[in-house]
Amino acid sequence: MSCFPENGKMPNHYDVVVVGAGIFGSCTAYHCQRLGLRTLLLEQFNLGHTNGSSHGKSRITRYAHTDPEYVPLVGDSYAQIAELEMKRDEKLWNKLGLLWAATGDQVHTISGHLKKHHIEHEVITGSQISERYPQFKFDEKWTGLIDPMGGVIYANKWLNAFQEEFKNLGGTIRENEPFISHTEDNTSPLAIKTENDSFTTNKLIFTVGCWITKFFPNVNFKIKPISLAVCYWKAKEERKSHLLDENNFPVLIAKDHDKKEFYFALPDTDYPGAIKLVLDDGDELTKDLNHPIRNNQNFIELPGNFISNHIPVVDGSKPYKVDQCKYTTSPDHHYLIGPVSSKNPNTLVGGCGSGSGFKTAPGIGKALAEIAAGKPTTVDVSFFSPSRFGESV
Ligand SMILES: Cc1cc2nc3c(=O)[nH]c(=O)nc-3n(C[C@H](O)[C@H](O)[C@H](O)COP(=O)(O)OP(=O)(O)OC[C@H]3O[C@@H](n4cnc5c(N)ncnc54)[C@H](O)[C@@H]3O)c2cc1C
Repeated sequence: MSCFPENGKMPNHYDVVVVGAGIFGSCTAYHCQRLGLRTLLLEQFNLGHTNGSSHGKSRITRYAHTDPEYVPLVGDSYAQIAELEMKRDEKLWNKLGLLWAATGDQVHTISGHLKKHHIEHEVITGSQISERYPQFKFDEKWTGLIDPMGGVIYANKWLNAFQEEFKNLGGTIRENEPFISHTEDNTSPLAIKTENDSFTTNKLIFTVGCWITKFFPNVNFKIKPISLAVCYWKAKEERKSHLLDENNFPVLIAKDHDKKEFYFALPDTDYPGAIKLVLDDGDELTKDLNHPIRNNQNFIELPGNFISNHIPVVDGSKPYKVDQCKYTTSPDHHYLIGPVSSKNPNTLVGGCGSGSGFKTAPGIGKALAEIAAGKPTTVDVSFFSPSRFGESV
């Protein structure tokens, strides 16, 4: 049966439908519309919900990365944010500097990547870290890398900015409108069903966070969504709280390779007087992709121990608050950007942002929009192609 009305008109036709209005989808929809593609952005919940990965006030941005392929994506995102800040007269991030502290030789590997891309940075010893930042205590087993372009992303402001700019360009957002299904035969246009409506589109882009497992159950690689316990911690003494604010506390990545424990921390942007410090690991989501009722205590005790050992100004005995956030990774922990399979060139995916996708989302959104428009991408994203796992869908 044809999906078009008998008069041949296509009132609900779009050049692109983007499913999921987290940070990936919001950036992607904005760029599609900016490239002149008539775009619909669908969100199953209300905008600003806290069930996915993109809520909250803060995220870390940084050039420093374990893999060099990320550096140009971050660079593109910095440029886009600078443009948006000017246009909107709004501060969207704060350049505080990143401290990357690690045991072993990881810091030197990262330094090599940054040198290759001519990115300014500094390598210091463990004891020099506390000379620079009196909050921290690291011994000579540790090495530090300072990335001066590191800082705090104002996450809720980014989300709002990309959604608003998308609408200003004439894009359409339908919230509380779950996407249900689409035609699989990949004829163009594709027919789409949502809970309350139906549409046709030339390109369909899934930016659905952890719900990717629902739409691509047959992929031959394992996508693993988890629930992170996002812990906030106060100073031991109120009079030292200022050491935790954006004027004094850098963004921190700490990798204890001996213990295989990885942490990230930010100043008190979310809750005044309380840093965010989180272990980079978590519990499996339930079958329905919900958080467990209570996160495993390990994911709260381990960061507490790390704090007691390395940030003595902070009280690691008990978190001030614990929030939850969903986190989706691919088997090699790198993003998915591009066509789901060469058999379905009109169906694209942007996902598996793990714990690093917020800062790169503007660059990822631009690349997905360029692919949808049939243009060469500004940044080479072939490293992130889903096809690296073989033809699976
Ligand atoms: C605790 C934590 C800390 C992090 N820290 C950092 C950091 O410091 N720096 C950094 O760069 N990154 C960080 N990240 C990673 C970053 O937040 C994520 O990579 C990013 O938010 C992923 O966004 P997304 O749009 O892919 O997913 P989501 O935000 O989950 O968005 C997916 C959207 O799709 C919608 N959706 C799903 N199914 C449907 C459907 N059927 N119909 C319509 N809509 C649908 C969902 O409702 C949701 O809104 C962190 C993540 C976590 C969890």
